[in-house]
Amino acid sequence: MRISTALTFILLFSSAAFAQNKPQPSATRPTANAQASFSPQLMQELATIRDAALADDYTYRQVAHLTENIGPRMSGSAQAQKAVEYVAEELKKLGLEVRLEEARVPHWVRGIETGELVEYPGQAGGTPQKIVLTALGGSTATPVEGLTAEVVVAHNFDELKTLGREKVAGKIVLLNFPFDKQKAAAGLALDAYGEAVEYRGSGAKAAAELGALASLIRSVGGADYRLPHTGWSQAAGIPAGAVTAEDADLISHLAAEGPVRMHLTLTPHRMPDITSYNVVADLKGSEHPEQVVIVSGHLDSWDLGTGAIDDAAGVAVAMETAHILQQLHLQPKRTMRVIAWMDEENGGGGRDAYAKAHALEFPNYMAAIESDLGAAHPLGFDAKVTPAALDLLKPVQSVLQNLGANIIKITNYSPGADISTMAKAGVPAFGVKQDGRTYFNYHHTAADTLDKIVPRELRENAAAMAVMGYALAEMPQLLPR
Ligand SMILES: [Zn+2]
Repeated sequence: MRISTALTFILLFSSAAFAQNKPQPSATRPTANAQASFSPQLMQELATIRDAALADDYTYRQVAHLTENIGPRMSGSAQAQKAVEYVAEELKKLGLEVRLEEARVPHWVRGIETGELVEYPGQAGGTPQKIVLTALGGSTATPVEGLTAEVVVAHNFDELKTLGREKVAGKIVLLNFPFDKQKAAAGLALDAYGEAVEYRGSGAKAAAELGALASLIRSVGGADYRLPHTGWSQAAGIPAGAVTAEDADLISHLAAEGPVRMHLTLTPHRMPDITSYNVVADLKGSEHPEQVVIVSGHLDSWDLGTGAIDDAAGVAVAMETAHILQQLHLQPKRTMRVIAWMDEENGGGGRDAYAKAHALEFPNYMAAIESDLGAAHPLGFDAKVTPAALDLLKPVQSVLQNLGANIIKITNYSPGADISTMAKAGVPAFGVKQDGRTYFNYHHTAADTLDKIVPRELRENAAAMAVMGYALAEMPQLLPR
């Protein structure tokens, strides 16, 4: 059901009058050309979609089911499989054409993870001190009874190199590189994460190359309350873990005073790779079914929490785009494709399988959107698009302005891990740009749970993705690449 034309004219003329009398900031002022490319009917439909998403609790109910009924969804786990089946079923209920597309994914299972300092300066008798830590994905196991060794501390890769094999071999390395909380508080959370996550990604490998027995890093992220942060780490053939920021400080202080010895037990194991699935669901385009617009998030999560902000929210927001369009009986001209990606966290098996199966179609794709930076208030989108494409999207910015979600910031990197192969092939790529100031306090920790999601903010994310998705599916011209 299309929106009434009377209402459309009111909207069109009132906004035109507004534009003449009171100039808007140039970043969001629709140019004559760009405005002309969106019909009054499309502008009205976009406003209706926005308002419907803001009033709907479908998105929240989906996040609640994925996190509380199904739980953590590690690649290869029973919960990941259940989540695949659940999302496929829900999208079928919406009348979409649903396929499960195979992807090979790792199956890594967390075991016991304990640590204690057994010798340190000033120790009272033989009393040990508990260290709060977690294993990183890719970690190998210690002996079942654990290992005991001296801890050597480095604050960055250069310091580790300076220590050299002589001081590192046979020891437990602690790489104590702090996550920059000030950057995060100033709105540069991704920059802060990027700096620190290098140590999670390749710290163990650097330590192993110098003969370390095991590698520990300071948890990546801004978490207080002594929460360890897990995540992917390059396989290095040694046990690899992350201690909490508080414990990293403790060990560093003590090691500066004298020898510190630690007993460490990590018993994860990697099972054989397993076949899992991306859930791919189409709302077929009425005029250009081959021109695909992807709306997506990733279905797998880490196992310490229940993967609410990372990334049940992204999946639910993408599902809501289809739900809203079906509710409003809006059939897009281009195909709207909802994808719940598998294995974003453990190597990108879902992304790679999709690229292998669909790369030849990428030249026809209109755009791909992913939401994978949490569920806080959206400020707009990061976009790997050309300036000319950005010009054509000004009407979308005007629809999202009253939400404060009207920024479109051009990036030179893919704004989503799962859509990166498409972005690389030139497909215009969008990532919902959430307020990330607190995201890395919870992400990959036991505290990534449903209560961290503010329902109103989640609905704003759903509105932003649905408006952008539908605009891309309906606008008259393809985005220039
Ligand atoms: Zn994620």
